[in-house]
Order: sequence, then C-alpha cells, then structure tokens
Amino acid sequence: MPGNEGLLAYLSRFPDEATCVEQVVKTRWADLGPICRSCGDAGPWGRDERSLRVRCGSCGGGVDLTEGTVLQDTKLSLRTWFLAAYLLDTDRRSTTVAGLARILGVGPEAARSVRDRIALALASPGGRRMFGLMREEVREREREPHVMRH
Ligand SMILES: [Zn+2]
Repeated sequence: MPGNEGLLAYLSRFPDEATCVEQVVKTRWADLGPICRSCGDAGPWGRDERSLRVRCGSCGGGVDLTEGTVLQDTKLSLRTWFLAAYLLDTDRRSTTVAGLARILGVGPEAARSVRDRIALALASPGGRRMFGLMREEVREREREPHVMRH
C-alpha cells in the first residue's frame, strides 16, 4: 500500500515523462547518475528525448536506462507504467487485465505483460522504489511539501 497517498498526489509527483525517467535513474544509480559501461564516466550524457537510452559524452557508448529492470525494451511511456504500478499496488485484486487495458489505453496483451512485470517489481523494495511507492518516500514528501528535491 502506498501509505495514504491518493492517485492525484501520486501523479503530481510524476507529472511527466521526465520525472519518471529521473525516478528510474535515481533508483538505479542513486545520486551518481548513469555510469558508462564502456569507459566508466558518469556523463555528460546526450539524450534523445523520445528514447530511454542515453549516449556517453566521453566515448559515445550507449546506456539503456531501463536495462535489467521490468521496464526493459518497453514501447509504452513510463507514465503508463507508473500509473499501472500505482493501481496494482493499491488494489491488485480488482485491477483486472481488461480493466488495466481500458485505463491505460493499450491492448490486452500489453496490459497482461504490464501487470505481470509490475507484479515482479512490486515484490522487491528496489522495484517499489523505482515506481516511487516506498512508504518513506511518500512520508518524506508529505513532511516537506514545498521543498524542491533532486
Ligand atoms: Zn563512455
């Protein structure tokens, strides 16, 4: 359960694709940001706005931001995933594949895949953190509602 945080409060923490990407990056690499596998540098990174890959400014090597996570190779927006994660975390039993497909505006196959992958993610603290669903994060935000955090 995501504390007492409602859907609107959750979505206001992740209002756009960029904040979702930032959350995934923060979860995977803490404050360091992505580390290039080829040269070990930590940026600067070039980024295609529409893709979840960044390119190392030092050696040109690519890093897939979602590699090794349940989001790997997804064609859906991260906001779609975050919304699904919230719904499944809040009320898994009544969130059916058909219902999820309607809410997300995707086909049943995609909805089933999203549901199965999110179930995996929600089973681990790292996965829950990646979708911003850890209790301490929610409480932290409630204590400091006006502070911008990075
Ligand atoms: Zn590099």
